[in-house]
Amino acid sequence: MPKYIEINCKSACNKVVSSFLPYHFDLNIYRGCFHKCKYCFAQYSHKYMNSTDFFDEIYVKKNIVEVLEKQLISKRGKREVINLGGVTDNYQPIEKEYKLMPDIIKLLIKYKIPAIISTKSNLILRDFDLFAELSKVASVNVATTITTVNEKVRELIEPNASTSMERLNILKEFSKTNVLTGIHIMPIIPEITDSYSNLAELFSNAKDCNVNYYITDILNLRGETKINFFKFIKGKLPHLYNKINSYYNGAYINSNYENKLNNMLIKLKQKYPLKNKKYFLAEEISPKQLTLFE
Ligand code: SF4
Repeated sequence: MPKYIEINCKSACNKVVSSFLPYHFDLNIYRGCFHKCKYCFAQYSHKYMNSTDFFDEIYVKKNIVEVLEKQLISKRGKREVINLGGVTDNYQPIEKEYKLMPDIIKLLIKYKIPAIISTKSNLILRDFDLFAELSKVASVNVATTITTVNEKVRELIEPNASTSMERLNILKEFSKTNVLTGIHIMPIIPEITDSYSNLAELFSNAKDCNVNYYITDILNLRGETKINFFKFIKGKLPHLYNKINSYYNGAYINSNYENKLNNMLIKLKQKYPLKNKKYFLAEEISPKQLTLFE
């Protein structure tokens, strides 16, 4: 089990700098994440904690609820969108014990604050009623990130997250409410999750779950992510090492590979059109921010 360290935060949510994202603030309860995804993009964030163990030394902002309320009061009714996560997963395993999310959602209900969340954990269903209640007073978007339908692959690359079927079930449940739902098919990992059959099954499942949108993205490998990802490939899938490595120029995938994958994705989107295509609409979201969602 990881080591959990309680800390006090000065700020519960932080302003997001990019104007292309459909939210204004990030709120991360935990620094570090026990889902242990092998491609985790957030590992860089631990250097601000003077720690190198992103997966096994996890910081818990135990005063986050009271700090959030102070921040919301200071906004005086401004209903800017909060992304419940953004760096780490607020429904990672320790949330079962700390139970900080329910009180956070209750505050969002009280102040009518729109929210977006993406998770890999079906612990979110514990708070189903609260999200449904929030969606009656503000826009809510619940998404799950799913990379593969193959459970053996999922266990290898996202060992402590919920199964892909459990994540699809989250979408099915929320699609019965006012909550907007989306599937994040990302990162698409060359040679591991990029087969036509895997992606087609994900698109088909997304359609069956009646999601409102999907996002796709290819694996980028920056900084520690690249080092640790290739350590994992060398250890567990050594036969793929050279092949995967050959697709990358530094942190980014080469354009040949990218073009081929994008063509496949275009065909899949045409083959599995969404019945109920809708975008996250919250107050103060500009049209250009919506381009992220398809
Ligand atoms: S759920 Fe997100 S933050 Fe957590 S380990 Fe996986 S990629 Fe990293």
